[in-house]
Amino acid sequence: MGLAMAKKKLSPNAQRRAAERAREKIADASEKLARLEPGGAPERPIEIETASLVEPHARSIPCLRCGHEVRVVDHEAKTIGERRLRVVRTKCTRCGAIRVFYMRITTPLSS
Ligand SMILES: [Zn+2]
Repeated sequence: MGLAMAKKKLSPNAQRRAAERAREKIADASEKLARLEPGGAPERPIEIETASLVEPHARSIPCLRCGHEVRVVDHEAKTIGERRLRVVRTKCTRCGAIRVFYMRITTPLSS
């Protein structure tokens, strides 16, 4: 005891943690922005031609937080307000971030 730890500049660990925090902030901002883009809210659905394209479309959009591929974990038809919407939830296969897309089918079912 009695040996004072010299105050150093940021250690490599502290630098890494600072970089992680910065990345987190960017990822949080990306998520907020995405809610303002098409598909991010019931008032702004992505228009999709047929129901069979809903899940492939959702899967084609990589994770907002880390850019990795996502899988569809949930897909339901919902009426929100007066709109018939598809609500698709995707989950990143790497970081586990959940994203919700609102989509509208533009071709009504003919049969
Ligand atoms: Zn991710």
